[in-house]
Amino acid sequence: MTSGPRSLDRAATWSKRTDGWGVVVHGGAGDIDGDRGPLHAAGCRSAAIAASRAVESGATAVEAAAIAIEALEDNPLYNAGTGAALDERGELSLDASIMCGATLDAGGVCNLPPFAHPIAIAKAMLLEGRRVLLAGEGAAEWAERHGFARVDAASMTTDVARARLEAVRRGLVEPNWAGGTVGCVVRDREGRLAAATSTGGVVGKPRGRVGDSPIIGAGTYADDAAGAVSNTGDGEAFLRFVAAKTAIEHMRSGASCVEGISMVLESMGRTLDGYGGTIAIDALGFVGWARTTMNMSWAAFGEGWNEPQSGF
Ligand code: ASP
Repeated sequence: MTSGPRSLDRAATWSKRTDGWGVVVHGGAGDIDGDRGPLHAAGCRSAAIAASRAVESGATAVEAAAIAIEALEDNPLYNAGTGAALDERGELSLDASIMCGATLDAGGVCNLPPFAHPIAIAKAMLLEGRRVLLAGEGAAEWAERHGFARVDAASMTTDVARARLEAVRRGLVEPNWAGGTVGCVVRDREGRLAAATSTGGVVGKPRGRVGDSPIIGAGTYADDAAGAVSNTGDGEAFLRFVAAKTAIEHMRSGASCVEGISMVLESMGRTLDGYGGTIAIDALGFVGWARTTMNMSWAAFGEGWNEPQSGF
């Protein structure tokens, strides 16, 4: 991703109705350069298809969202799991969260050292139902106690991630979010909603920096009575806006899912000069996305559609 000028002139939205279940995936907002857009969209499409198959076979929204995110965490193209952005010390420090709209149970990890699937650890926390967010070594120890294995950092670090850090260190690109964060929202066959997000955060981030992605209410939120949302982009702006929950409250007050997320992105751009993208699904059967960046790779599939939709 490069970090060219952003402005609300670039704002775009998309929305479509489903006859029941639905899945939307994003592969990060940013300014995707060159020919990488179609690759990013193709990865989102595979992940959306995997989650849709799971939903059709009776998986819960939470299970399906985690399936999509794990596929994207395994794909080195994205800034999540393998291939995630490196911090100022060249280390991986991973953030992820997941929320169940039926129970409002949630799980999240931040500043997590290398594990293949941070979202799987967040999901295990959600299912345990006690803690909502664990950080750093404490999160890693919890994960190990629950059967997850640490991974050698070298096996999850790509040459592209190293090159991006080098470019930031040399001042060749503006320090910015990396693009390539991944997210998924799902409505399952029972009408349950879920939202999930996973990221390596910002290239060259200071040690200990946490963005919106693992924070319930900022990067991720789901409530069966209103909708489900996953954000990507300027994490500090999404945090200040409590952006995910704010969009959900717009939906609760009658906005469609795409209206709710657009209102938040537009006011975030206007007041904080903060930009990004959001995917959403609502309780009425609509799926959609909005962005104020040049691109956001995405894919969606829903009951009654002939084939998935995708783009960047
Ligand atoms: N929002 C993420 C963060 O601030 C970055 C992104 O979405 O690309 O960590």
